[in-house]
Amino acid sequence: MDGTFTQNDIRHIVEADKAHVWHHLTQHKPFETSDPRIILEGKGMRVWDQNGKEYIDAVSGGVWTVNVGYGRENIAKAVYDQLMKLCYFAQSAGSIPGSLFAEKLISKMPGMSRVYITNSGSEANEKAFKMVRQIAHKKYGGKKYKILYRDRDYHGSTLAAMSAGGQDERNAQYGPFAPGFVRVPHCMEYRKEELGLGHLSGRDFGIAAANLIEEVILREGPETVGALCLEPVTAGGGVITPPDGYWERVQEICRKYDILLHIDEVVCGIGRTGTHWFGYQHYGIKPDFVTMAKGVASGYAAIACCVTTEEVFEMFKDNAEDPLDHFRDISTFGGCAAGPAAALENMRIIEDENLLENCTAMGERLMGNLRALMDKHAVIGDVRGLGLFCGAELVADRETKEPVSESQVAQVVAECGAQGVIIGASNRSVPGRNNTLCFSPALIATADDIDAITQAVDAALTRVF
Ligand code: PLP
Repeated sequence: MDGTFTQNDIRHIVEADKAHVWHHLTQHKPFETSDPRIILEGKGMRVWDQNGKEYIDAVSGGVWTVNVGYGRENIAKAVYDQLMKLCYFAQSAGSIPGSLFAEKLISKMPGMSRVYITNSGSEANEKAFKMVRQIAHKKYGGKKYKILYRDRDYHGSTLAAMSAGGQDERNAQYGPFAPGFVRVPHCMEYRKEELGLGHLSGRDFGIAAANLIEEVILREGPETVGALCLEPVTAGGGVITPPDGYWERVQEICRKYDILLHIDEVVCGIGRTGTHWFGYQHYGIKPDFVTMAKGVASGYAAIACCVTTEEVFEMFKDNAEDPLDHFRDISTFGGCAAGPAAALENMRIIEDENLLENCTAMGERLMGNLRALMDKHAVIGDVRGLGLFCGAELVADRETKEPVSESQVAQVVAECGAQGVIIGASNRSVPGRNNTLCFSPALIATADDIDAITQAVDAALTRVF
């Protein structure tokens, strides 16, 4: 830390936090007797808390966001320069960084064409949902309005995004939700028995898991289903990589029933999965909508996007005489020029520093290290991931796959923290199932960083189990 803060400053910050801040996704009772962690500074892969303790951040800002690492002067400067030139004008007009960022983004997304800028992942998903609903009215007399979403996937915290939320613990007590959202089963091979597909494996399992989606479509009536919204690799629901054959079959099903495919890249997008800019590009998917947020500007500014094909865009400009024909939606802060200015620089850094390649190499090292730990720790039941986006599922018994307790998971996370490594855990998709340790270090991670992360996990597992 650079020593900017005195002890008194820090105590003041902690007390102000305890008195007035409502932390996200946090039970506050413990703060009556202890202090919350306050992160004061970050540089590269590392952050420092109020006690001066240094951590390797293995979750990129807690929620897989800071893809290029902390302290990037070039991004800060791009934002500063843009704010001095023009801080804001509503996106009903254009802007220099908006145009240049959209052009750059689309150059990485063959087949896609239009970028709708907004400011959070939830909001980007809401934009896609609204487009689907409006298309249903324009093309299908309002009939094809249903949106399918998957068990264990997460699409955000606003009410329509929660209506598409496959994580029961996140949704509990917040209903009723918006009508017209229908759940389809997950595709997790490790827990295939839950799907009644325990007898299948590999490609056969992948195709059968996709066919479960078709069963829902047929039950609902294909003429009522407008879109299918999926994460390419499920993030908070337990880092669930798709089985072989799954995406091919999902696309066939969408084409067969004229269903738009919405890929939620809020976590996977902008390099997180390595080699490609987006998760869907690993699987030959041709989406109609792609939403993204976290890594778009690596947290240096709030920006998210809903990207569509030209075919989707064309549907909103058929009839200029009709005042209801266009997409009648606005996001005030989608007009903040800091977002695209930061995003453009963020993409340049990823290119200039070959971070997609580094992500692949370091992701393989992380997965290899975690898999090696399976020999020593029977509690690791499964290791999954793609790029620097990995999960290790903890089970009390490898045969029955019974999850370890939530408090044991919390202890492992706390033990890693005590050793100076911040890791995460999956959301309680199914109550009692937040049993996957999550890792998403910045794409700049070195081999030493990766080894330090897995050494901390090794020690934490030894201590807790
Ligand atoms: N979609 C996915 C896959 C997410 O993981 C998240 C957030 O974690 C969201 C959407 C919502 O994004 P935001 O929190 O920016 O609204």
